Amino acid sequence: MGLDFDCAMDRCVELARTASRAGNYALGSLVLADGAILAETGSSLVGADNDPSAHPEMTAIRRAACARRSRYLTGAYLVTTLEPCPMCTSVAIWAKMAGIVFGATQQDAKNWSTEHPDELFTWRQIEIRARDVVAAGTPALEVHEGIRRDECRALFALNKSPAV
Ligand SMILES: [Zn+2]
Repeated sequence: MGLDFDCAMDRCVELARTASRAGNYALGSLVLADGAILAETGSSLVGADNDPSAHPEMTAIRRAACARRSRYLTGAYLVTTLEPCPMCTSVAIWAKMAGIVFGATQQDAKNWSTEHPDELFTWRQIEIRARDVVAAGTPALEVHEGIRRDECRALFALNKSPAV
């Protein structure tokens, strides 16, 4: 028996904590296929290749496609701690994935920023919901939100320093 969404999200939270300890955003993502992890990563934007598109969702999808030797990840799910941005959601659509699974929502991140104006960290966003991007694309991906939401929201507090 393979991993379910809850267990996969537990792993994402672990990846996010590890990324945070390394000075990165506390975000974690993986690609789940047939109950197994095809690829996974925490955020690695800080100090990496100066690549603004290197969101963990993008990196996980790229690695999964590489592992599968196909640009299509049919039947696979993108699992990620925070609602993916329009760019990453679009890539999941281009990859013909089965669905997107996330914990905290864009609004959760926005609320956290508002409640903690003293923090140097800000959650800059492109305010288009993942489900709206999905609704505009083909194929129609499943969208599962709120998986381990409390654990994912708790990750926001780990971002204490400004992003480089
Ligand atoms: Zn993104």
